[in-house]
Amino acid sequence: MKDSCALIYSSRFSGFSYGEEHPFKVLRYRLTYDLIRELGLLAPPEARVVECPRAPEEALLSYHDADYLKTLKEFSRAATPRANFLYGLGDVENPVFPGVYEWSRLGCGGTLEAARQVVEENCRVAFNVAGGYHHAHRAKASGFSYLNDAVVAILSLLERGLRVAYVDIDAHHGDGVQEAFYDTDQVLTISLHETGDDFFPQTGFTHELGRNAGYGYSINVPFSAHADDLIFEQAFRRIVLPLIEGYRPDVLVTQLGVDSLRTDPLTRLECTTGAIEYAARSFAGTGLPWVALGGGGYDEVNVARTWTLVWAIMAGIEVPDRLPGRVVRRLKELGYASDLLRDEPRLAHPDDFARAQANLEQHLAFLERRVFPLFGLTPGETP
Ligand SMILES: [Zn+2]
Repeated sequence: MKDSCALIYSSRFSGFSYGEEHPFKVLRYRLTYDLIRELGLLAPPEARVVECPRAPEEALLSYHDADYLKTLKEFSRAATPRANFLYGLGDVENPVFPGVYEWSRLGCGGTLEAARQVVEENCRVAFNVAGGYHHAHRAKASGFSYLNDAVVAILSLLERGLRVAYVDIDAHHGDGVQEAFYDTDQVLTISLHETGDDFFPQTGFTHELGRNAGYGYSINVPFSAHADDLIFEQAFRRIVLPLIEGYRPDVLVTQLGVDSLRTDPLTRLECTTGAIEYAARSFAGTGLPWVALGGGGYDEVNVARTWTLVWAIMAGIEVPDRLPGRVVRRLKELGYASDLLRDEPRLAHPDDFARAQANLEQHLAFLERRVFPLFGLTPGETP
């Protein structure tokens, strides 16, 4: 439907669990959906919910290794816990929980459906909250990711002859997606993340620029620990937006992990919801067909609040800052003490900011020198 936006969701998400002790809480999806609905942001026909389908097995084979898929499927149904560490399956990070194969197929199916919505249904933007599993490799689970939904969906777009810009704002490097498209110029991958110097997955440095025909089409902007909204927004304005403009993709795919927020328990970045809203407004402003995916975020209230704000931008609906009383009560039970939807503005300590700014300048200068000429761009001329 022209000019509409689709939220890909399924009540089936709630039927799975990584385990009580695992930082990845499946509740994040339900909470996001409920908050979006509570705030009246699902007004058909423009803003509608599309049931998340499971990815067909042949679509998974377009990227993933057949034996890896077979193993994942077999373990998923096993009555007793199984493990295969070569495949990254069954450790603390990537547990083999009951139904993990079906769970991963839902994430992947949602992203395929989001891509289909924007290219076949004339949808302006489709948001698969349960996507963005950017660490999954061809034959290895990693970073809570079993199947790489972004890769499988981007391959489906390439098959239609479309060129794709993939932008990943998760606090962790989008290593699995970069790796899949490292040799091609048909996909531009850009990842903004906390530096891999001493942080998972230990990749995503500026010198990782792509290979062969793909040289210049893998872009990384690593941030120092404690980087804040000002750092994030500069990287966005000086690198992400000019490169999207210079590349002229047919479709934009974004991974919108929100573990860059200051209050996330797993990372050291210090962004607020304001940075993510800035990114979402910028993506919307490109006017490109937009496949939006979820991603990291280990405080489930942060996830719900931020993706609700993102959805409101997609749907073009203003949302007030103050949350309704019944929502405040529910979020309080989950440990959220405020009654505000957005974070209050907050910047890093001046020493941390100075360090982050100095590092950022180095990275931006390097990318402007090495990459901008390939796209016919001049540093400083921001679109
Ligand atoms: Zn992450």
